[in-house]
Amino acid sequence: MSDRELREPWLRLGADHAPTFENEARAEVAPGHALYGLGLRAVAKCEGCDDVVFRASDNTFAIVHLTWTGKPEAPPWPLATRLGGFVAAETALDQHEH
Ligand SMILES: [Zn+2]
Repeated sequence: MSDRELREPWLRLGADHAPTFENEARAEVAPGHALYGLGLRAVAKCEGCDDVVFRASDNTFAIVHLTWTGKPEAPPWPLATRLGGFVAAETALDQHEH
């Protein structure tokens, strides 16, 4: 996803902030979770809620609502919406509402 394709309220996460979200996701996603075993790169964060967009190592995207407990959660937490590929991700980000 390029910057051009990110619209408000999504904020792109740069190299200074992305690791915070990646580390938290790694801590929370436990065996049995849909994203378990995938590498996760934090791409963007919503300004209005705690949702974070990750790009997974299988080239799908997911919106994850991190719990910020810093420990493994019981699936399905942290709640995640898998978005498939790039086009599905763009559509979901555009439709994101509170
Ligand atoms: Zn939001």
